[in-house]
Amino acid sequence: MEKLNGLRCRECGRHYPAAPVHVCEFCFGPLEVDYRYDALRGRVTRASIEAGPPSMWRYKDLLPIDGDVAVGDHVGFTPLIRAKNLADELGCREVWVKNDSVCHPSWSFKDRVVAVAVTKAREFGFDTVACASTGNLANSVAAHAAEGRLKSYIFIPADLEQGKILATLVYNPTLVAVHGTYDEVNRLCSEIADKYQWAFVNVNFRPYYSEGSKSYGFEIVEQLGWRAPAHIVVPCAGGSLITKIWKAIKELKTLGLLDERDRTSMYAAQALGCGPIVTMIKNDTDVLVPVRPNTIAKSLAIGNPADGYYAYKVTKESGGSGEHATDEEIVEGMLLLARTEGIFTETAGGVTVAAAKKLIERGVIPRDESIVLCITGNGLKTPDSLQDRLKAQVSIKPSLSAFDRALADLKSQTS
Ligand SMILES: *Cc1c(COP(=O)(O)O)cnc(C)c1O
Ligand SMILES: [Zn+2]
Repeated sequence: MEKLNGLRCRECGRHYPAAPVHVCEFCFGPLEVDYRYDALRGRVTRASIEAGPPSMWRYKDLLPIDGDVAVGDHVGFTPLIRAKNLADELGCREVWVKNDSVCHPSWSFKDRVVAVAVTKAREFGFDTVACASTGNLANSVAAHAAEGRLKSYIFIPADLEQGKILATLVYNPTLVAVHGTYDEVNRLCSEIADKYQWAFVNVNFRPYYSEGSKSYGFEIVEQLGWRAPAHIVVPCAGGSLITKIWKAIKELKTLGLLDERDRTSMYAAQALGCGPIVTMIKNDTDVLVPVRPNTIAKSLAIGNPADGYYAYKVTKESGGSGEHATDEEIVEGMLLLARTEGIFTETAGGVTVAAAKKLIERGVIPRDESIVLCITGNGLKTPDSLQDRLKAQVSIKPSLSAFDRALADLKSQTS
C-alpha cells in the first residue's frame, strides 16, 4: 500500500516526489511529508499500534519509511511518569513527565529524528550523513552513523559543553568545531549540503527528520490511555518538536484513534538568553526577530529557528502560550525535577520545568487540569551547569568519631 504522496510545500501546497529536498522551488517554503490518510484510516488502529515493538517503530505506519528500519531499532517508547511529588510542589492535580532523558541510544529525543533521517538516507542510497548541531543531535547522528556503518560529518559551535563533545567523538565521526554561533554553523551547512552529496539530517533531510518527533506525541497519547492531555509544555530550539507533537495529535484524530473533543494547548519554553519564539508569543506577532544566543541552555541556543513561525502558530492555534526562563531559573528547574522526581535532566529540561512553573503561577495553565512536561535530554551530559551550585555537605576522615562530629554539626545547622 502506498502511504505517502511524497512531499508538499507548507506554504503554496505544491507537490514534490519523495527526494532529499527541503525547500519549495517556487516560493522557498519548507517541504513536509504528505501522507494518504484515506489509505491509512482503518488500517492503523489502536490494536495494531499496541501490537508493535516497544519502540517508536510501533508508529512506523505513520512515519515516512518505506522499507525496513535501518538503524535505531530501540529508539523511543520512553517512560511517561505521573509526577506526584512535583505536582504537589507546584500545587497541581495532574502532572506528567515524558522522559526522553533516557531515550536509547544517546539520551535525548534527537534519537527519534535521527533514526528516521538516517534510515531515509540509506533508502536514498547515501553513504555519508551529517548535521549542524547544538549538541544532542551531534551525539545521535554520530551514534546512528556508527551503527549503520555510514561516514559522518558533525558540525558544532566550538563552545559546546565538553560532555556533549566527548559523547560525540566517542563514536568516531569527523567532528568539525566551527568558531561561530549555531546559526552560523547552520548557514555553513546549507552551503556544504549544496556542494557535497551528503545527507544532512536537519538540512536536506529535514522533512523526514522532523517527522520522527511525531513519535514523542503519539507516545504521550497512547501512554495516557489514548487520551490527549490538556496542556503540553515543550522546550523549543528550531521549533520542530512542538509543531510535530501538535501534528501527531491531529493525525491521531484524523485516523479516529483519539477523540476529536480532546483539547490540548501547546506551550513553548525557551531560555531568556535565546527565546525568539517565546518573544513572538509574548508580543503576539508572527514576525521572528533573530537573536544572538547567550544562555546555559546550549541545546536550545538557536537564534534564528527554522520552524519558529510554525511553532508560534501552533501555540496560537491550540490556545497555548509560552514562557522564558533565566539561567538561574533553569538551574532551579533542573534541581526541582531531580529533588522531587529523581530525574536528572539537562538544561533544556530545566527550561521546561521553569517555564511551566511560571505559567502555572501566572494562572495561564490551570492547576486542576492535566499537564505534560517534555523532558528531552539527560543531565549527565551537562554537569558543567551545576558545577558551582552543588558540593558534598560533609567531608571527613574515615573515622566514626569524625562522622559523629560532622553529623552533630549538620543537625545544629538545620535546627
Ligand atoms: C534539539 C532539542 C530540543 C528542541 O528541538 P527543536 O525541534 O529544534 O525545537 C529540545 N530539547 C533538547 C534536549 C534538544 O536537544
Ligand atoms: Zn511553495
